[in-house]
Amino acid sequence: MAACTGRRILDGEMPKQNGKAVHSVVIAGGGVAALEAALALRAHGEDRVHVELLAPEPRFWYRPSSVGVPFGQSRVPGFDLPDLVARAGATFTPGELAAVDRRNRVATTRAGDQLAFDALLLACGARPEPAVPGALTFRGPADTEAVEGLLRELERGEARRVVFAVPPGAAWTLPLYELALLTAAWAQTGDVRGLELVLATPEERPLALFGRQASDAVATLLHERGIRFVPGVYALELRDEALVTLPESTLPADRVVALPRLRGPRIDGVPQTYDGFVAVDRSCRVRGLEHVWAAGDLTSFPVKQGGIAAQQADAAAEAIAAAAGAPIVPRPFRPVLRGLLLTGSEPRFLRNDPVGPGETAAMSAEPLWWPPAKIVGRHLAPFLGALEPGLLHPPRAAMTVEVDLPESPTPFVDAARAPDERRVRELAIAVPTVATEETLADAAAELLGQDADAAVVEDEGRVVGLLTVGDLLRAARARVSSADVSAVEWMTAEPPAIDAGASVSEAAFLMAQTGGWRLVVLEHGSPIGVVSASALALAHAEARGS
Ligand SMILES: Cc1cc2nc3c(=O)[nH]c(=O)nc-3n(C[C@H](O)[C@H](O)[C@H](O)COP(=O)(O)OP(=O)(O)OC[C@H]3O[C@@H](n4cnc5c(N)ncnc54)[C@H](O)[C@@H]3O)c2cc1C
Repeated sequence: MAACTGRRILDGEMPKQNGKAVHSVVIAGGGVAALEAALALRAHGEDRVHVELLAPEPRFWYRPSSVGVPFGQSRVPGFDLPDLVARAGATFTPGELAAVDRRNRVATTRAGDQLAFDALLLACGARPEPAVPGALTFRGPADTEAVEGLLRELERGEARRVVFAVPPGAAWTLPLYELALLTAAWAQTGDVRGLELVLATPEERPLALFGRQASDAVATLLHERGIRFVPGVYALELRDEALVTLPESTLPADRVVALPRLRGPRIDGVPQTYDGFVAVDRSCRVRGLEHVWAAGDLTSFPVKQGGIAAQQADAAAEAIAAAAGAPIVPRPFRPVLRGLLLTGSEPRFLRNDPVGPGETAAMSAEPLWWPPAKIVGRHLAPFLGALEPGLLHPPRAAMTVEVDLPESPTPFVDAARAPDERRVRELAIAVPTVATEETLADAAAELLGQDADAAVVEDEGRVVGLLTVGDLLRAARARVSSADVSAVEWMTAEPPAIDAGASVSEAAFLMAQTGGWRLVVLEHGSPIGVVSASALALAHAEARGS
């Protein structure tokens, strides 16, 4: 890419290359999706685009490798991010995106800098938060020492029963399977006896997303390693030497190793779900915002994985390049899950062909994709592999899987329906409905008029959000003029919805999974109101007679 005449931060100057104005693309983020998108834009956009990457941290860590660190199997490669960005033909700007003004196409950083854009790609990832009190939360490189500490405790016999557990809101369970399998292999090799290892997960079968045959292979591996598999439960907390789960149950445990709950960072002016995720269409354009795309863990796609992040980044980059005039037909996001599971034993390669949903995986003696990296990005894997060749050697003790995913994969089980419980329709409170482009001022007037604390936001008859009093307060704090901004910019996007005939338990289960305080209640697909967490808690207490 030719040299650019410099970065423009609302100084009136548009980016130019060789004297010609070019499409200015701002990418917020410095991780997998951001780098893949920068590389793809270089490939497709050539000198039509100027790419500026905005990220708060100057390092890029290859996190999947962190799982093997406590077992002495790997180290976590770290790269200088500004150097990677320069090699990708883009410019690096340190900073954290705080707000987006879609009308004026301006991105504002937390420090108050403003970046004008023709296209903005949100690739800010998700933040891991501990979700199981009392457990060791494994978030990646930061927690390898804690796992090493746990292994020392097991060696000394200070703990014996370990549960590897998935809380509500965790979306990529593979690292937990790896930790459990590697712990069992470590105990066998080191002759650490008497351990009771359990893997507790909301999945119905081990790594259910990978299809039946891969799942069966993982089940066999767990069995061979003496790891008990407990399906259909979410981990809540470690209390009195037991893991408390949802649905209500307990598992004896001295220690619990849990995955974190993921949340997207709040960005003013961008519709986000309760958990801070961003809903996108098939070209990864943010629903409701023209000129803004999103890719990776930040999106509301339920599988948070590097390969998926890269596929979304490719779809967004192609759409952005086409908008900049590149002669390509952009391909939509079509999720293919490529997983490489560290097993501590011989390599296995499983392919799931898209004949039947998740049921036709085949064993192969060769890796299924090339380069056989942990994070499979069309552009990123060879790019990083050229700098760190070790990333391209398939681990000796690993299983690879390739699966075509449905558009809305649902990896986890639902709550059972109890026949004698109250139905959600009895608890629903009617709320006003507003349109996406209705101003906040008008929407606030409707809330006041109906004495409601939330309104359903609809777009062409589809529920796309909830506008709550909390959202109005956020907008007030950001000092936006309520007559100038619309519901779509400040609403809570894609609120979880439940059928009016569902039971109180089902609603409580869904609420725990999604982390919100309200569910939209649908009768024959149309909203009839919302049900709140407090109403559900009350109904639950009444049913138990307390
Ligand atoms: C232990 C572990 C093991 C894993 N194993 C695998 C695996 O085997 N295979 C696989 O494919 N995936 C794996 N993953 C998942 C994979 O790492 C993530 O899915 C992937 O990194 C997501 O890419 P992303 O670009 O969306 O987010 P990230 O890679 O997390 O990058 C987010 C970037 O955004 C920046 N940022 C944050 N907030 C802002 C802001 N407001 N403005 C600007 N920038 C911001 C961050 O500093 C960071 O640079 C694993 C993850 C973990 C933790």
